Amino acid sequence: MNTLNNIQIARSGLKSWYSDHARDLPWRLAPSLYGTWLSEIMLQQTRVETGIPKWHLFMDLFPTVDDLSRASEDEVLKAWEGLGYYRRARYLHKAAKIVNETGEFPKSHAAWLTLPGVGPYTAAAIASIGLGEAVAAVDGNVQRVVARWAGISDPVDGKKGAKEVQEVADAWLDHNAPGNHNQAVMELGALVCAPRNPLCDRCPLSSSCVSAFQREMWGVLPTKKPKKKAIRWELTWHIARFQNFTVTIQRPETGVWAKLWAFPETPPSKDFHSLGELMKPVTHLLTHRKIEATIQGWEAPDKDTMESFAAHVGGEVITWEELGQRAMPRLATKIFSDALGQ
Ligand code: SF4
Repeated sequence: MNTLNNIQIARSGLKSWYSDHARDLPWRLAPSLYGTWLSEIMLQQTRVETGIPKWHLFMDLFPTVDDLSRASEDEVLKAWEGLGYYRRARYLHKAAKIVNETGEFPKSHAAWLTLPGVGPYTAAAIASIGLGEAVAAVDGNVQRVVARWAGISDPVDGKKGAKEVQEVADAWLDHNAPGNHNQAVMELGALVCAPRNPLCDRCPLSSSCVSAFQREMWGVLPTKKPKKKAIRWELTWHIARFQNFTVTIQRPETGVWAKLWAFPETPPSKDFHSLGELMKPVTHLLTHRKIEATIQGWEAPDKDTMESFAAHVGGEVITWEELGQRAMPRLATKIFSDALGQ
């Protein structure tokens, strides 16, 4: 493991590298606590390239935390569509209501931690970037850079490895510019110390990095605990139609795709005419789940039969246009465009 003697060199190297290489991301160009918070929630499990247009969309639709708190949950989920992990959007919305009721944004790392959807990394990032508080933010990029630099071989998502990474990140922290420092480490992980083929010859840490000297180590570090095997889920959606209408149901409040709109999993009555499979079975991956989806089509003889089916499954009869306005899981939007041409 690297000693802490090289801390000062690493810190100043990061500082000058960041001042030359920081990307012009929109939330950096006109910084605000609200914009920083939004970007940090969006980027938790989303690539920057995907997050940028969504960030602009949110800033257009809900320019202030007050606007976000007053929006309906459906509006927020619809705007979030495509980013996945919808729990983030629901928590963001809940947190916006709390901020609005309180009348101000939290003023410290500890206070940010009390908001729904804000964990230690996000609170540290917001507090350091938005408030100048000296806390080290450790995300996946930082774990990778630190583990390689310091030669930490314990799993970074385990208790011991996480502690080791946090100790180095804390020691590295530039207390005079914690926000820029945290962003520098994350940016280095995104642009230089990439998961595969890190660009050590362009890295400001290379003179003190354990993995730069022992090149075989970056291919191994960081280590993680063994992944849980994905559960296989065979799902059949029954898409009923009559003229321009279909039947949709809102998924339960908890579990996968909570409160999003999708199609019934129960087949309709014999009064419907089967259209067979509307498309080849689709494989869709979620965290810890591998979904094998079959899509069956059904034609109703009249609207009353559609209404009876909707009542039976606890759904609603709506037009395709109305369904397009509702927040759906990514799998449903894919089917919506690929199989139904909507
Ligand atoms: S020198 Fe190489 S392995 Fe070490 S932090 Fe830089 S890019 Fe990563």
